[in-house]
Amino acid sequence: MDTKLTVPIAAKDIDQAIGQAKAAQTAGAEMLELRLDYLEELSVELAEKLINEVKATAKLPLIATCRDTQQGGAKDYPLNLRVDVLVSALKAGAEFIDFEYENFLLPQIQGRITAAVAQSLSGKLILSIHNFKDKFENITKLHRHIFTLYPAAIPKLVYTANHINDCFEAFDLLHKTSEPCIVFCMGRAGLISRIIAKKLGCFVTFAALDEKTATAAGQLTIEQLKNLYRWDSIDADTDLFGVIADPVAHSLSPAVHNACFTEAKVNGLYLPLLVEGGKDEFNSFMRNVLLRDWLGFRGFSVTIPHKANALDYVKEKEGIIEPLAEKIGAVNTLVIDKPQTVNHEPQISAYNTDYAGALDAVSSALKIKREELKDMPVAVIGAGGVARAIVAGLSDVGARVKIYNRTVKRAEKLADEFGCDFASLDELAGLNAELLINCTSIGMHPKTDASPVLKDYLKNDMVVFDTVYNPAETLFLKQAADLGAKTINGVSMFVNQACVQFKLFTGKKADTELMRKTIKDN
Ligand code: NAP
Repeated sequence: MDTKLTVPIAAKDIDQAIGQAKAAQTAGAEMLELRLDYLEELSVELAEKLINEVKATAKLPLIATCRDTQQGGAKDYPLNLRVDVLVSALKAGAEFIDFEYENFLLPQIQGRITAAVAQSLSGKLILSIHNFKDKFENITKLHRHIFTLYPAAIPKLVYTANHINDCFEAFDLLHKTSEPCIVFCMGRAGLISRIIAKKLGCFVTFAALDEKTATAAGQLTIEQLKNLYRWDSIDADTDLFGVIADPVAHSLSPAVHNACFTEAKVNGLYLPLLVEGGKDEFNSFMRNVLLRDWLGFRGFSVTIPHKANALDYVKEKEGIIEPLAEKIGAVNTLVIDKPQTVNHEPQISAYNTDYAGALDAVSSALKIKREELKDMPVAVIGAGGVARAIVAGLSDVGARVKIYNRTVKRAEKLADEFGCDFASLDELAGLNAELLINCTSIGMHPKTDASPVLKDYLKNDMVVFDTVYNPAETLFLKQAADLGAKTINGVSMFVNQACVQFKLFTGKKADTELMRKTIKDN
């Protein structure tokens, strides 16, 4: 089924509606939803005039909706007026009217609506149910009820997902239904359902003209859907990827990977996957994905707070784990193979591309091979997740690492594990290293006037590397560059680790310049 990218027109008068309709058409809308309940002083005449003018302006199919306030309507217009308006919308040429299933159950109302649909040449009825709080108790049953009551209707079942795991029921219904239907989830946890609607053949997806005119929680803008989420390229065969994180909205990974899919002509879509909660919720998410191979998830980036959960999950599944990732105790990349047969569980493999990204950033800046880092004296500031990955990578190639951390016990523990030295941050005064790496969040946006090391401790013959990538040029790097030291920024590490992921996901080499440009533009 061809999913129509539909923009709601939520205007208070005709002029505003025409302006929005023109903008929606220019932005690439494939259908418009006229939210007549947003009009001030609604009347049958006003609705007819609006439909005629919008049809003359935008030449797009129209859904006329005049929503009950109980179901998210903007103004409390009487039921009879709303029905009159929808009947006249059909007469004026609207291709679809959207009416609440609950009110359709009232016999008198049902008679008027079905008579109007029967009289119109091509008008169709969408019967909708919204649950703004939660999942439906039984979405399949509701779908069947609508279908049994009025088989020509297009059922629209929309509910709030309170967790990403709530979305899978919507996907299941779309997957097993061949008749046109509209099913998606509201709220930030339901965001992906609005995007993969196209892969699953949902009849429409709704996108706002801009953030100000969004008519529902979690609605994306048409610009985001088309440019960031590759709307025009999505089809039933599109492979899905994404970053599992909480929070996830700030992540640059969707922009970076989707740009590379386009450039490399890969039929892939990379999504932000907000997996809230801990190990249980992560495991449920993975189970939901693996149970449904038809969804086509083929790989994930994994970040805070699920890197250790991801490793545990792959261990439990007896998947393949990159040896160093196991030693690091965290993975940031999962690859899911296509199953050999329908009933076969897919094979999962787990990697850590953070250490590889960091080591590649250093070796390419110094124009040396990774192995040439052997015996190099390196100072690592920080003992958190990123420090752990970098210390493991550096120890693996034989560098001489000293870990400095605010919480000295943490530095000691990490140093013990990988056979390094450790010290408190005060001891940075006596710093003596060829390579100095900041693995703390000091200097990161918005506190950009902070640096992990006093300027006086820096030397011009040091190579100074900051893993912070927002901003790309931190105060730490500026001060080092002013002294004449060679610097490496966090964007290099981010791009390198994303390149390794892209290769694992697609088998293809990513365009690093495009990645850098995408990060800069975002
Ligand atoms: P983490 O596990 O939370 O570790 C944070 C580290 O920073 C700890 O060592 C902590 O010291 C130290 N720290 C935090 N605030 C401090 C302060 N005010 N003064 C002194 N030390 C402080 O975080 P992570 O996952 O390792 O991430 C660290 C940074 O790496 C992030 O902020 C991000 O900018 C960067 N990063 C970069 C990339 C990339 O690709 N370029 C990827 C991921 C992350 P304590 O142990 O004393 O708490």
